Amino acid sequence: MPSKLAFDAIVVGGGPAGTSAALTMARSGLKVVLIERGRFVGSKNFFGGVMYTHALADVLPDYWERKPPFERPVTEQGYWMLSPDSVVRVMHKSEEYNQEPADSYTVLRAQFDLWFAEQAAKAGALVITKTTVTDILRDPQGRVIGVNTDRPDGEVYAPIVVISEGVNNLLTQKLGLINNDLPPRFVALAVKEYISLPTKDIQSRFGLSGAKEGVAIDIFGDATLGLPGTSFLYTDKAGVSIGVGMLLEEFVQHKVRPYEVLARFKNHPVIRPYLEGGESREYGAHLIPETGYDRMPKLNADGVLVAGDAAGMVDALHREGTNLAMTAGRMAGETAIAAHLRRDFSAGFLNQYRQNLEASFVLKDMKQYRRMTDFLDSTPHFLGTYANFLNEAALRYFTAHGMPKRTMEKEIFGMLQERRSFFGMAWDMLKLLRAMRG
Ligand SMILES: Cc1cc2nc3c(=O)[nH]c(=O)nc-3n(C[C@H](O)[C@H](O)[C@H](O)COP(=O)(O)OP(=O)(O)OC[C@H]3O[C@@H](n4cnc5c(N)ncnc54)[C@H](O)[C@@H]3O)c2cc1C
Repeated sequence: MPSKLAFDAIVVGGGPAGTSAALTMARSGLKVVLIERGRFVGSKNFFGGVMYTHALADVLPDYWERKPPFERPVTEQGYWMLSPDSVVRVMHKSEEYNQEPADSYTVLRAQFDLWFAEQAAKAGALVITKTTVTDILRDPQGRVIGVNTDRPDGEVYAPIVVISEGVNNLLTQKLGLINNDLPPRFVALAVKEYISLPTKDIQSRFGLSGAKEGVAIDIFGDATLGLPGTSFLYTDKAGVSIGVGMLLEEFVQHKVRPYEVLARFKNHPVIRPYLEGGESREYGAHLIPETGYDRMPKLNADGVLVAGDAAGMVDALHREGTNLAMTAGRMAGETAIAAHLRRDFSAGFLNQYRQNLEASFVLKDMKQYRRMTDFLDSTPHFLGTYANFLNEAALRYFTAHGMPKRTMEKEIFGMLQERRSFFGMAWDMLKLLRAMRG
């Protein structure tokens, strides 16, 4: 890379946030460089993963004609509550999910991110891979004016830098936009495995009629040893994505290793039959920010905007992150375009980025669920207790014991009280309600 390269804008990181920002700016005619450390864009990235088309359509309205590498549309989705030997399923299937393009698709990030970056390149963005941004360049007044990279003579200049470096937000920290590393309470660690399976097995096991159907299941309870966390099982074209995620603090406190939790989950009597005969093709671990609205970094300073996981933009309850990242990336791009028109890259002008996010679902949802991590942290028994109770109650309810139903109902109530006192339950529900309402 020659020295003294100058652009209208620099984007750090080729995830959904960065590529959305680069695409938005390139389409308006700005000279943009997207710098990605991976061998190719997407090479280091993975997620659950369900991707939402509303956010993609806002960035790239004709995305469908450009044939994105989607795996399967999500035509059935819901929750499973696992006990050690059984499951209560709450699933939803609707004809509405069968529209094309669908509301959401499973994707494999190595393919999707590469395709998405190609669209940014087609729009005119310069995409540079195998290059890590190591530092931020500032003028004597402290305004951001570019970045340094690990290339020889690797300085790149621009009046605005969009930082979309993901959850390991070292540059955001260097800039002082967030005070310290995330404590283990506010970050989750997830492990995911992609297991290939014959298509006919996927379809018969999950009750799918063809390649235009797919399932996304989020699983609680015994999947994470009853601890705060979530697990997932999603169908891809020729395999399934399976994983578990828990707050880092829980792994440490309970002395369990992520890969052990995943191995145990895969071996659960309810889960095992779905994976039988499959071959492990991809395995990895990744952090998920649980920073929440109240602990987010500052989103803008002179000459710089922060988007996506780098700013903690995740709604774990609804397994949404890529759509928040894409929307934030697009809004960062739009703000950079406006800043170029006004020739004003000051923190004050760039604050319209924060205002736009506050008016959108991104920060509205984060604000609403701002207490969710604290709720799970202070109510660690919640998922385990109620998942086990639901399974035991269902067994009682659905089996005939030759006893009057009134007696059965009393037994079920008694089982609940054995696990949690009346006041304990009322307190849990009150706390949950408060966590859901923001
Ligand atoms: C196990 C798991 C399951 C998930 N499931 C879902 C799901 O089902 N649906 C959903 O919507 N979201 C899901 N998420 C969340 C989602 O993956 C993230 O919210 C989303 O990827 C954030 O996008 P981003 O662009 O901000 O960051 P990332 O996708 O992390 O991209 C950051 C990019 O920046 C690059 N980079 C980092 N530092 C530098 C540097 N210094 N120089 C150059 N490049 C750099 C990285 O290589 C990477 O390409 C899941 C996450 C995990 C871990």
